[in-house]
Order: sequence, then structure tokens, then C-alpha cells
Amino acid sequence: MEIISVIIPCYNEEAALPYFFKEIRKVSDNLSDTYNLCFEFIFVDDGSKDKTLSLLHQFVREDQRTRYISFSRNFGKEAAMYAGFFHAKGDYVVLMDADLQHPPAMLEEMYLCIKQEAFDVAAARRISRKGDPPIRSFFARRFYHLINKISKAEFVDGASDFRMLSRKAVHALLEIGEYNRFSKGIFGWIGFKTKWIPYENVERVAGETNWSFGRLLLYSLDGIIAFSTAPLAIASVVGILFCLAAFIWMIVIVLRTLSWGESVAGYPTLACLLLLVGGSIQLSLGIIGQYLSKTYLETKRRPIYIIGEMSEESEDEEIH
Ligand code: UDP
Ligand code: MG
Repeated sequence: MEIISVIIPCYNEEAALPYFFKEIRKVSDNLSDTYNLCFEFIFVDDGSKDKTLSLLHQFVREDQRTRYISFSRNFGKEAAMYAGFFHAKGDYVVLMDADLQHPPAMLEEMYLCIKQEAFDVAAARRISRKGDPPIRSFFARRFYHLINKISKAEFVDGASDFRMLSRKAVHALLEIGEYNRFSKGIFGWIGFKTKWIPYENVERVAGETNWSFGRLLLYSLDGIIAFSTAPLAIASVVGILFCLAAFIWMIVIVLRTLSWGESVAGYPTLACLLLLVGGSIQLSLGIIGQYLSKTYLETKRRPIYIIGEMSEESEDEEIH
């Protein structure tokens, strides 16, 4: 019998989890009957500070298809997803948010795409950004435009993390063991035949989003740095342009002094130039620093996450 693993990263989701669990069990029972399938639910508690973990204990008691992994602290959704993929045993693995923003009703279509149409990935794509603040949508669109220009991996606007993958695709994902994980890029980078299934964005069922605008901005910077070295090239080009300009300006000054003699005028020009050149040097250093810091973290080879506790099965892997 084929197995579908459902991975659910949870961070402070005590309010939404009971609704989610009820819904996913209903949908999976239906699917199990229709297609002769088995399910496993893997909840990854990303260091929640509320009652999420005790809810998970309760779920395990209620339904033997449930397993959980609980991190020693908050490692971020990326780490939680990786842990889920690592521990999933299914032939198909699907990633879902705990807040019911990813409708479980879509599982059937995703499954059929992979099973019957020979896709390796079936991913949900938001057709509108309704419900998002306009400023957030604006920056999101700019981000996708920019990153597709400067990176080789394909970034699809509106692509969500809600997706089902074949075992083959999961295997490829696990091969990418980098510490600075940016899934939206990694999913595109591994390739494979992907079916995009459109869906309308729905409001979260309960609780609050964990992503502030500032956190999203930093996350998008991470994405650019992880999947493109264009900013480094830009820094060098700006440097070269400034050198050229300075050289030409030097000749102009020498010629001017020779023909009209010295003058003390021109202080504003000097001040502006100083600021501009100083600023661009600072910017280039900053860009290089960003890459350096990522390289630094990568070379440390720290684990992506640390498990505090998990449900009985497969306790062989405490750290990964
Ligand atoms: N999440 C997580 N770790 C974090 C932040 C979020 O595991 O540090 C989980 C969260 O519990 C939810 C999913 O990631 O299941 C998406 O988070 P959220 O709904 O806050 O994001 P949004 O839908 O607003 O993008
Ligand atoms: Mg959400």
C-alpha cells in the first residue's frame, strides 16, 4: 500500500491545530478509502512557547498515524520543513501549514497529478494576493521580478510551500544539505516536472501569522544571496565606474588648474563626491560581508536543527 506523508511545521499554533487535525483526518480517511492509501502525519514543533507540544502528545494518543518532532528551540520554518522531509517515510510527501491556509481538499488533485499524470511535484499556486496588505504584495511582486532576473533557479510568483512531492523529488531535496535554506529557491533549483494548481488565498483559521514585514524583508535578502551572486558583480561594476569617473575628473581638474590657475571654489562638489564614493564603498563592503557571513555559517557545518523530543519511532537520529 502506498503511503502519503503529511508534514506540518508548527510554531505557536495551539489555536489552529485542533481545526487542522480534524480537517486533515477527514480528508485523509476519504482518500484512504477511495484510493487504497495509507497516511502518516508528521508534526514538527518548531520550539513553540504555547501548548502546541501538549496538543501533539494528545494527537499521537488519538491517532496512531501521527508522529511529532519537537525542536529544542525555534529554528525557523525552513528547518522544520527539512526535518519533516528527513523523517517522512511516504512514497508521496506533502507539506502543509497548520493554519488551514492550505486547503486539505486539494490533496486528492495533487495525488492524482503525480500518480496518473507522471508529474514529480504538484504545487499550489496562489492566483491572487487578496487578504495581504497592499504594500506586502507590492514588495513581493518586485522581489520575484528581481530574483528571476539575477538567478538561474526559477522562482514562480505566488508559488506556496503547499506541495506534494514524489519520493524522487524528496530525495533530491534532502541532498541539498545547506544551512541557509531558502525553500522557494531550492524547490525551483531541483527542477522536475511540476504541475501548478491554482488556489484562492484563504484567511488563517485561528491564531496569528508569524511573519512580520521586517522578517519577510530579511528572508527575501537571504533568498537573493543564496541563489545569486549578481550583487557581488554589481558591487564590482559600481567600483569600476567610480574609478573611471574619478580618473576623468582628475584630468579635468589638472587641465583646469593649468589653464585658469588654482581656486578654492568647488567645496560642495568635493563634499558630494566624498559622500558618494564613501557610500558606494560602504555598500560594496556590506554586500561582500553578507556573502562572507553566509559562507562562514556554511563552513561551520552546524546542524540545521536539534531535536528536543520526538514520538517513539525512529529515535536513531537525534541531530541532523
Ligand atoms: N512556522 C514555523 N516556524 C516559524 C514560523 C512559522 O514552523 O518560525 C510555521 C507556522 O506554524 C505555519 C507555517 O509555518 O504552520 C506558516 O506560517 P504563517 O501562517 O505564520 O505564515 P503565513 O501564512 O502568514 O505566510
Ligand atoms: Mg499562514
